[in-house]
Amino acid sequence: MKEKCGADQETSSFRIHEIDAYISTILLIEYEKGLLLFDSGCINDVRRIEDYCRRTLKCSPEAIKLIVVSHMHPDHAGGAAELRRKYGIPIAAHTEADRWYAGPGGALQHKLDCYMASTVAYRNRRRLERILFHRYIYPDYLLEEGRVLPFFPDWMVLNVPGHTLHDLAFFHPEERIVYIADLICDVKSKNQLPLPILFPGQMRSSYDKLASLEAHTILRSHGKTIHTNDSEQLFTSMKALLDHPATSFVKRVHRMSIYSPEICRYYRSSSNKG
Ligand SMILES: [Zn+2]
Repeated sequence: MKEKCGADQETSSFRIHEIDAYISTILLIEYEKGLLLFDSGCINDVRRIEDYCRRTLKCSPEAIKLIVVSHMHPDHAGGAAELRRKYGIPIAAHTEADRWYAGPGGALQHKLDCYMASTVAYRNRRRLERILFHRYIYPDYLLEEGRVLPFFPDWMVLNVPGHTLHDLAFFHPEERIVYIADLICDVKSKNQLPLPILFPGQMRSSYDKLASLEAHTILRSHGKTIHTNDSEQLFTSMKALLDHPATSFVKRVHRMSIYSPEICRYYRSSSNKG
């Protein structure tokens, strides 16, 4: 993997590749020692990842040393278990990721999320493909706030709940690069909040945390990479969007997103207000 092939960005120690996936962008970080995958896309993106490795990087998908799952939504966790089954690649995720779709409520939420992901594909004029995946990923490595990634200790783990209860972001302090998955979505060339926001109070704190990083490069799953000298202002402006009134579409998505047992567990605790 020495030859520079298709990299969208390069630092002194790694190259960043963006794979145009079914309904998201998948970030593949290329080191001399192997590849780091930030989110697996939907289950039907496994072949897109395989194609990218083989055709662009001229390597086997087995060169991926770690799959990091930012949260359990179908366009982030969907292909992880399949990549592990086919190539033995370990999965790293939040300690509580597998609680999100647990039990009968979780099973319902999992189906609804797959349905909503399909409607996104339809709106993006993608051919409809099967994206149902197993709702548990059984992570090989459990990630916690402030720890570093296994095999890639230059990346730090940050808890950034709000969109779900277990969202993670990954920060590279030396290069000032952060991967934020859904937390700034490009919708019609505008920065938008992820859908849904189930925990607005937590989301505020998460944007404050991201604002304090002074990141210069923001990698994301829905939209082009952001290069900025003022990420504090950017994340503060995202926080301000939380005060805007919800549209009927946003309310509809929210109504379809309330069945994870984790939501009940969170709000049952009297000290948690949002
Ligand atoms: Zn999501």
